[in-house]
Amino acid sequence: MTQAPSTACIALGANIGEPLRQIEAGFNALAALPGTRLTARSSLYRSAPVGYTDQPDFINAVALIDTTLEPHALLEALLEIERVNGRVREFPNAPRTLDLDIVLYGDMVIHDPGLTIPHARMLERAFVMLPLAEIAPDMQVPGQGRVSELAARVDADSIAQLQRMPA
Ligand code: AMP
Repeated sequence: MTQAPSTACIALGANIGEPLRQIEAGFNALAALPGTRLTARSSLYRSAPVGYTDQPDFINAVALIDTTLEPHALLEALLEIERVNGRVREFPNAPRTLDLDIVLYGDMVIHDPGLTIPHARMLERAFVMLPLAEIAPDMQVPGQGRVSELAARVDADSIAQLQRMPA
């Protein structure tokens, strides 16, 4: 029996190498995952690093996908995309060529040692909430409320939406 697809939100971030190119590669790799359709992509945003701040600004975006991959299989697939794009895990919050996080997966709530959904820090992150509100304002965060209302509460001082390049 074919499993019905679920809608998942994926956050993309990059701040070393060629961030714009790597985010684009991330979107393309999501679209190419088995059993998966890329249904929306936000604009690109520039945000100041959090945690370890002595590193370049990040380029961030959020994607919506419909996927039949289960959450853990999806996480493994994202880690593989990161690896292919040159990600090396040096220390927490280190600069990265491409970071992919599962922000939401349908209305699922998961608290496993290696996987937390909704993503544990999504509500405090402008670089997740603003792009997500751009493409899915009516989506519900389980137990928290509507994306547009939650996004209105984040500190948006150190983030800027980038203008789209002319075609
Ligand atoms: P980082 O790349 O620094 O964001 O950390 C990635 C690690 O966080 C992964 O290896 C996962 O085991 C863990 N993790 C926990 N929850 C999530 C999530 N919702 N999305 C992505 N990674 C997660």
